[in-house]
Amino acid sequence: MIYLKTEEEIELIRQSAVLVCDTIAEVATMLHSGINGLALDKRAEEFIRDHQGVPAFKGFHGFPASLCISKNEEVVHGIPNDQPFKSGDVVSIDCGVLKNGFYGDSAYTFAIGEIPDEVRQLLKVTLESLYLGIEQARAGNRIGDISYAIQEHTEGKYHYGVVRELVGHGIGRQLHEPPEVPNYGKRGRGLILKEGLVIAIEPMINLGTRRVKQLKDGWTMATQDKKISAHFEHTLVVRKEKGECLSDHKSIEKSMKNNTELTIIA
Ligand code: MG
Ligand code: MG
Repeated sequence: MIYLKTEEEIELIRQSAVLVCDTIAEVATMLHSGINGLALDKRAEEFIRDHQGVPAFKGFHGFPASLCISKNEEVVHGIPNDQPFKSGDVVSIDCGVLKNGFYGDSAYTFAIGEIPDEVRQLLKVTLESLYLGIEQARAGNRIGDISYAIQEHTEGKYHYGVVRELVGHGIGRQLHEPPEVPNYGKRGRGLILKEGLVIAIEPMINLGTRRVKQLKDGWTMATQDKKISAHFEHTLVVRKEKGECLSDHKSIEKSMKNNTELTIIA
């Protein structure tokens, strides 16, 4: 069942999505070599609860933490652990919040210290593909138009691996609602987009093969060739001209500018 949201509901989703981004921004200020994921996760949970939210991922199908932290060859669903980050690590932080009955979901991939040019380009192009997808989220288009825009930019132009097993999704009163929003597909195919449809678009793009595997912890998805993967996500609503972001990466980008150890990729 596809639910179109009222403007009141969209505002509540926006509040949740902004809290998600403010939480990622908060932990981005702490993201230095030497700190570990558990410390970030602890701070994230405090921050969310201090702002009257509930961490959406904690307990979701049994996931043990408030953040998914996926490092280097890990694609998504990494469990925060006590391993210190080090210079050169590529760290994807995915967060979800439930507040006032509605979910928000967003993710950002950071680079600590110096990274090779090819990795910097992967991050930049993945982020670009997210916004190209959002441009296609307009009423009258189809899901496939979003999917195609992302695949064409990343796989078509740069020959990166577009993960098939994991996709974006509708969001609202549930963290994951229909429809699925794949990062690969054909123009003009799939569900027709209507104003008020709220979705999360989240390209997961690999430097090498698109093939992924699940690690022994039962959660973490990682690239089969152990090459770097990038992941960015926005919650947005379909509008007449293009998608309107409900999550907002500005607070995250501000934290990055203030944390000189993080490489600015946008
Ligand atoms: Mg997410
Ligand atoms: Mg999501």
